[in-house]
Amino acid sequence: MQNDESQPDESQPQPPNPGPSPELVNRYGLVPPDFEAAKTDVQRKTLDQRAQIDELARLRHSCAHILATAVLRLWPDALLDIGPWTEDGFYYDFDLKHRFSPDDFPKIEEEMRKVTKENQVFEKSIKTREEALAYFAGKGQKFKVERLGDIPEGEVISFYQNGEFVDLCAGPHVMRTGNVKPSGIKMLKVASAYFRGNEKNPQLQRLYGTAFKNKEELDKWVTMQEEAKKRDHRKIGAEMGLFAFDAEYVGPGLALWLPKGTVLVEELERLAKETEFQAGYVRVKTPHLAKEKMYKTSGHLPYYADSMFPPMELGELDGEERQQLEAEISNLRAKEAMHSFELSQLHPVNDIARFLSVSDSLKSVRQDLEKPKMPVTRYYLKAMNCPHHHRIFAAEPRSYRDLPLRLAEYGTNYRYEQSGELFGLMRVRALNMNDAHLYCTAEQFAEEFRAVNDMYLKYFKIFGIEKYQMRFSTHDPARLGQKFVNEPELWKKTEDMVRQVLIDSGINYVEVANEAAFYGPKIDVQVWSAIGREFTIATNQVDFAVPARFGLTYRDRDNTDKTPLCIHRAPLGTHERFIGFLIEHYAGNFPLWLAPEQVRVLTLNDDAALVDYAKAITAELRANFVRVEGDYGADPVKAKISDAEHARVHTMLVIGGRDMEAGAVSVRLHGKGNIGAKPKAEAIADILASIRERRA
Ligand SMILES: [Zn+2]
Ligand SMILES: [Zn+2]
Repeated sequence: MQNDESQPDESQPQPPNPGPSPELVNRYGLVPPDFEAAKTDVQRKTLDQRAQIDELARLRHSCAHILATAVLRLWPDALLDIGPWTEDGFYYDFDLKHRFSPDDFPKIEEEMRKVTKENQVFEKSIKTREEALAYFAGKGQKFKVERLGDIPEGEVISFYQNGEFVDLCAGPHVMRTGNVKPSGIKMLKVASAYFRGNEKNPQLQRLYGTAFKNKEELDKWVTMQEEAKKRDHRKIGAEMGLFAFDAEYVGPGLALWLPKGTVLVEELERLAKETEFQAGYVRVKTPHLAKEKMYKTSGHLPYYADSMFPPMELGELDGEERQQLEAEISNLRAKEAMHSFELSQLHPVNDIARFLSVSDSLKSVRQDLEKPKMPVTRYYLKAMNCPHHHRIFAAEPRSYRDLPLRLAEYGTNYRYEQSGELFGLMRVRALNMNDAHLYCTAEQFAEEFRAVNDMYLKYFKIFGIEKYQMRFSTHDPARLGQKFVNEPELWKKTEDMVRQVLIDSGINYVEVANEAAFYGPKIDVQVWSAIGREFTIATNQVDFAVPARFGLTYRDRDNTDKTPLCIHRAPLGTHERFIGFLIEHYAGNFPLWLAPEQVRVLTLNDDAALVDYAKAITAELRANFVRVEGDYGADPVKAKISDAEHARVHTMLVIGGRDMEAGAVSVRLHGKGNIGAKPKAEAIADILASIRERRA
């Protein structure tokens, strides 16, 4: 799991040693038919990264044991639950009368330090179920007794002992407690958590800590956490009025873009549209929903059903069927009228038998009329844009002359993320994707792919993203036809081409075998924000299976029909995640071209001539589509500047009498201070050039 996605849910204890969370689905395209099998072994990290994670995980999990050892020394009556490692460290759940607080941390850390100094060996022993039960029951450790019940019959039950502390655990650990550097350990927080995450169970106290190999790495992490907290996109988003969530009326995970956030959205779209236009893309627009058949064909249903909003069901009929149904209904209506009339003529006492029989018939006719006769068609909100684009490809006959065809759309997708996984803009239920599908021949593939990579590099430069990595996932020839679509030649050919393009473009990449999607090799793009946090923003995907499933063909030179290759790409990811990333990356201090309020014109006082001069500058900027506001009141200029700084206005033009006389303005940049006076025309030209060139 990536940093940007981690959102620990306090109430949900993770299983022991959860490990890096697998990427459940490819977020963009088809879910492989063997999705269930694939999801367990598709992980996002390279082997190297995984080896590092394993090492850190081992260290952190060992720290959970060391923590429990220390807590039992300090509070011998503590009851223990479990102590796994997590993405950011480790925790252990306890039940005891004493309420933990951060005031306890120094004492706990000190005791942990002693445990490491004692250099205890982590010793493994195998127990029978009876032995294990007897041990924990004897100690009154009721949660451990319950956890023992979770271990299936026949499975090995292992204990680990360090010093006097014994725990039920499958491992692995470091060799000795002395392998953990105490200066690399830090207790973080205390939270409450229900046993097994179920609120009907007793509430436990969870102690969170983290551990690194050494103090330097710990310090680096602590600094990054502090900086990340200051740059939290939810906090800055609220301060700047960028977006809002309204769980009560709109729904959780459905972002509302406020005017200032909409500026960011539209500037990004403009950038994408211009860049894609220059790269020969054409734009399309598609509806937000489609019939069930679409997603059965793409393979999203049934494999992806849990991640889609449930279907909308509509009654629909055409032609003869409709006529038949209408005839049936009008027949029933006639009967209803006839029975009602007869009933009105009958005496309920004198004609009792007939009266009852007719009223029964009437009842049954009315019941029939109420029965829904219309067969149901299911519509789904789209979770991805590919299928719609495929239908656009299919909408007209295509020839080799039409290829490559690059269909682009900022498409809105809906995904039913679990409510516990929703996280600000990073995990949402409605997302706008910088999507495009490139249909091409095998001969055109390398060139298309290279152009896509160039586009990434161009964006990295614009956004000042200095550190990035592309993870190139390839197939495993031994699993063709199971995990990977059975096209050995296409796999080899496209993978060779992708590799060559990456090498030729001098792109920083790592290759990961056996992690491609079912239908083709893929590239995950990771970027690091200015403070060194890692984000996965996009996936590039080669697809040689789905176009065939949709029956997409083009007429080739030799007059035969062929299936195109398709490249899925979304360099700017989704607005939601990308803007979340940018907020942290820039700490809300956007470059001029992106800034929601680009310029504010401030007067030193409210002198009429000065205000007129300032207003003319504002008007000129606005006529040039600059997002400019004026502050011409009588407030002290210091207060005006402080207001503008607080609102993160990029450029302030401060104007006094002397500026006016000289036809000048004093330029002040947010966070940088006064950069001096300039002739008015020059200042305006600078602003326009900086915006036009999208300067950093
Ligand atoms: Zn353990
Ligand atoms: Zn796609």
